[in-house]
Amino acid sequence: MRLILIGPPGVGKGTQAQRLAEHLGIPQVATGDMLRVHVRDKTDLGKQAQSYMNKGQLVPDDVILAMAEARLREPDAAGGFILDGFPRTVPQGVGLGVILKRLDVTLDAIVAITVKQDVILTRLVARRSCVQCGAVYNLVVKPPKTMGVCDACGGAELIQREDDRPETIRKRFAVYQEQTFPLLAYYRPTGLLREVAGGGTVDEIFNNIVAALPGKPDQD
Ligand code: AMP
Repeated sequence: MRLILIGPPGVGKGTQAQRLAEHLGIPQVATGDMLRVHVRDKTDLGKQAQSYMNKGQLVPDDVILAMAEARLREPDAAGGFILDGFPRTVPQGVGLGVILKRLDVTLDAIVAITVKQDVILTRLVARRSCVQCGAVYNLVVKPPKTMGVCDACGGAELIQREDDRPETIRKRFAVYQEQTFPLLAYYRPTGLLREVAGGGTVDEIFNNIVAALPGKPDQD
């Protein structure tokens, strides 16, 4: 299955993409996570991307498209993938179309998760991630078992992402409205777009997404 997951920052896209990847046995391709690894490792790409990311702006399309194509050419993506956070602009959607043609594959669904801005602000301000392994928590809806300690690796440094500060969140939401939301109109004519309400619990949203997928695989 080849899927795109679209949604505003903080809608729970990453969490859902991870669960879907496990459920469907295909990799999650998250451009934000890939960029954060570059930033952490201080690669040239990371240095180029960092200033955009810290300001809540989008990294240029050509940089993202090159990174995404390289990832989609890796063997584990041959049988399918979940795109999380990509494409993020209409030109990226067009570029993805070109990449998929080169790979001789087609998309099965585009899932758009929708939610109100105030819900998102509350969620993102409470988001923390582990410095050591990148695992993501939410102090309100998904806290670690022991406060301040990562469940996954035991790391004791759970930090707020630089771009999860309230003023940057507002900027990222505005960027979503202006640059990413138009992708829904771009994909609507394909008949592959599925819009899913993102206001419930992680399990509810997951079940709604699975129910919206073509072929309706078994829910868990
Ligand atoms: P995310 O983890 O998906 O919220 O992404 C964090 C940041 O990485 C975004 O605010 C952008 O600066 C950058 N980024 C991630 N994916 C893309 C993309 N597809 N296009 C442009 N910038 C991106």
